[in-house]
Amino acid sequence: MTTDFPPRVLLVDDEPLLLKSLSAVLEANGFVCRTAEDGFEALRCLRETPPDIIISDLRMPNMSGFELLAIIRRRFPQIAVIVTSGEFIVNVETSGLLANAFFQKGEYTPQQLIAKMRELYSQFPMRPPLPKQEQSPLWISRRSNEYLLATCNECLRSFPIEEKSSAGEGLQTTECPSCGAAISFAVDSNVLKMLKSYRTGTEGP
Ligand SMILES: [Zn+2]
Repeated sequence: MTTDFPPRVLLVDDEPLLLKSLSAVLEANGFVCRTAEDGFEALRCLRETPPDIIISDLRMPNMSGFELLAIIRRRFPQIAVIVTSGEFIVNVETSGLLANAFFQKGEYTPQQLIAKMRELYSQFPMRPPLPKQEQSPLWISRRSNEYLLATCNECLRSFPIEEKSSAGEGLQTTECPSCGAAISFAVDSNVLKMLKSYRTGTEGP
């Protein structure tokens, strides 16, 4: 830790039980926690006292975690962001656009999360700037009908990729529906395999 103050954490998730248990674990480890059950409540908390670290889900009512993170990255770039989600990130190396770290829900221990939080907090305020990404992060949304999402490198909004353009493999380009920026993303056989297996229900929840 680089300061005497306990790190302040904002937890954002629409599951109250998860918020309760996670904040208990983090408080026991020296963090000061606030919780928010959706994106709007999170933004209210941010206006009052910006935390050092935000831990957010991606799938929430009212405002999706993707939208929330796009706002946080623009308005509060100094805050470290950790995503814990059931949505699947395809290319971890480009995900830094929206988050400093990513944990798949149900596949990490509190110790791993706390170690990452301490690492990010120790870099403050000298956290290395995010490299400018050539390619956009890709996500697989695990709703009833799984589909690919890309995050725009310019406006940071996330949008579903049309089926026809995600059908093939390789480096592809499309236009951001929000800001019109040209974005490129890579689809490989693993991504297609993953999508297919989620859709046919042979894997995942
Ligand atoms: Zn855009």
